[in-house]
This record gives sequence, structure tokens and C-alpha cells, in this order.
Amino acid sequence: MIKFSHIMKKYGENTPIKDINGEIKTGEVISIIGPSGTGKSTLLRMINGLEKPTSGKVFVDDIEVNDKNISEITRKVGMVFQNYNLFNHLTVIENLMIAQVEILKRDKQTAYDKSIKLLKEVRLLDKENSYPNELSGGERQRIAFARTLAMDPEVLLLDEPTAALDPKLVDEIKGLILKYARTGKTVLLVAHSMQLARDVSTRVFFLNEGIIYEEGTPNQIFDNPQKEKTQSFINSQNAIEFKIDKTFNFTNDSIALAEFCLKHNAYLKLVNKALLIFEEIIEQILFTKYESPDIKVRVDYKNEFITMNIKYKGERFNIKDSNNDISIKLVEGLATNIDYSYNENDEYGNKVEIKIN
Ligand code: ADP
Ligand code: MG
Repeated sequence: MIKFSHIMKKYGENTPIKDINGEIKTGEVISIIGPSGTGKSTLLRMINGLEKPTSGKVFVDDIEVNDKNISEITRKVGMVFQNYNLFNHLTVIENLMIAQVEILKRDKQTAYDKSIKLLKEVRLLDKENSYPNELSGGERQRIAFARTLAMDPEVLLLDEPTAALDPKLVDEIKGLILKYARTGKTVLLVAHSMQLARDVSTRVFFLNEGIIYEEGTPNQIFDNPQKEKTQSFINSQNAIEFKIDKTFNFTNDSIALAEFCLKHNAYLKLVNKALLIFEEIIEQILFTKYESPDIKVRVDYKNEFITMNIKYKGERFNIKDSNNDISIKLVEGLATNIDYSYNENDEYGNKVEIKIN
């Protein structure tokens, strides 16, 4: 069990955390989400004593996190850092063994066997004797994960565990988190991927204005948030919007679109389709059709589907009636579904909704 009791944290004039309260039961998987700078990492680091609250208390299994209890806390709480913190002068197996031997006083054979078992689990057995700088980012990430699990922590803290990973590895980390949680352990993760938070959490904390602004099950927070600021944060995470006219910079917007899709761990193939469709419809079809194009695009990503909503001003025009046969064929080939509608009461009366998966 983890308990936050009136946590406040000041850095000089800055008070990112004002009053955080709450209890996390053993076996829960909590995702912490919120805008950057709201104290998500700081809150996580307070649980293992790396950061001290200015006032208030944190408890892990009724033990207060403070200097006196720090060795007990360190044994209970394991953390995977955002930058992995591996020892670069030690091999992978040595990285996994060292704390088991020195802190838990396991004998070398036990520590070795445990390490090998975990290397198998993260599918990096062949890297046993490599050094961290010989590994890719994704591999280092999984080694850091294995090293933390080797200590059999009661509580696992993860700070943006999938930030640098491609979708396949995200699934793998997701699997590891769920597997660990199934053994009845507690997990807290700062999630930048809403999909990850949705898939693994029992509860989600939305941090904002120095407090747990709203909390609930993933369904409550992602599909039915109650407070306005939660709603706008969730919406901003799920969608990206473009306003496009003659001054439009195709490269910048394509990059923004690609980044948005990748942030949600969309598959590269899907990102590629989205970019191609975007380019064909905007540049090839609408920019040739209208002399002064005025277009609004909203793209969301949910459950492995990208939905592109394109609205534009001007005379009624279904993109399917475009003279540009090649472009329209390409779009039809790539999209899963294309829906056109016209609303004469809307300034942006033409509307195309495209689903891609
Ligand atoms: P988040 O993880 O939500 O992005 P952080 O917990 O990293 O936020 O930081 C919260 C705020 O506290 C930020 O404004 C950050 O600049 C500030 N902060 C974090 N750590 C320190 C520190 N060691 N010294 C001064 N300010 C800090
Ligand atoms: Mg952070």
C-alpha cells in the first residue's frame, strides 16, 4: 500500500505539487498522466526517497519514506528511470547481478540464475556479456527493466517506460508490466502514451494544478472525464488539428502529423498511409480544386485506427469526383473507409471522414 498525505513540494518559488492525497492498494496499477511540469516524475521519486516533500508524508506499507527508513524503502521499491541509469563499465549480466549480491546479499549463483531467467523474459539472453553502450535504446530499456525486477520489488515505479520505443517493444513492455502486476505487486507509471495507460491501469491519476485533479478507471478518465480541464487534456492527447490555407507549410505539418501518430505508438505502416492520404487530399486534390483553399483537419488515433476529419470551405465538392484519378485511386486504396457529407449551414460545409488502419 502507498499513501500520500498532504504532499507539497516547492522548488524555490515554484510549487509544482500543492496538496496530493491518496491511497494506492497493493496490486493496483496506477498511471499518472498530466501536462509536462506538473510534478509527475517528482511524485514518483518521492516514493523511493529520491526526492523529499517540502511538507507532507509518503508511506509505503505504513513505513514512512524518510532518511531513517531509506534502506527498507529501497528494498521494497524498484524504479526504472527514464534514462535507464545502467552501469556502462559493467556487462549486462553484471548490471543485473550487482545489486542482488551487494544489497540483497544473494549468493552469486542465485543472483546469476535470477538474472538469466529475466534476460530470457526480455528476450536478451544473447546480450549477457555485452556492455550497455553496445545495445540499442530499446534493449537498454529492457535491461533496465530486468535489472529492477531482479530485486523482486513490492512496488515498481516506471517513468515514461515506452517513450523511446517502437510499437512492437511497447507491446512487450506492456506485457511485462501486466505479468508483474498479476503477481499481486503494485505498479505506478508516468505514462506519456494514453494507449499504454488505458491498457494496463486499474486507475488513472490526472495531475494538474498541483493536485490529483481527477482520478478514475481508464474508462472514466479517457472516455468520460468529468472536469473541463481533464477533458481538454484528454482531447489534446487524442487529436491533432491543422488549419490549412495557401500559406500552409506541408513539411512542417507532415512532421507534426507523423510525430503525433508515433507518440501514440501507431505502426509505421499506418503512419505512412496517413501521410500519403494527407498529402494526396490536401495538396493534389483540394489545392487544385480551390483557388483559395480553407481547410481544417483533425486527426485522432484510437484503438489502432487513425481518423482524419477534413472540412473545407467552398462549393460542394466530393473528393471522389476529383479529376485527379490517380490521387483518388491512391486514397481509396489506402483508406479503410471514406465518408463525404455536405452541410450547407456550416461555413466549412464539405466534410470528409477517413478511417485508416
Ligand atoms: P513532470 O514529470 O510532470 O513533467 P517534474 O516532476 O519533472 O514534472 O517537474 C515538476 C516541476 O518541478 C517542473 O517545473 C520542474 O522544472 C521542477 N523541478 C523538478 N525537479 C527540480 C529540481 N531538482 N530543481 C528545481 N526544479 C525542479
Ligand atoms: Mg517527468
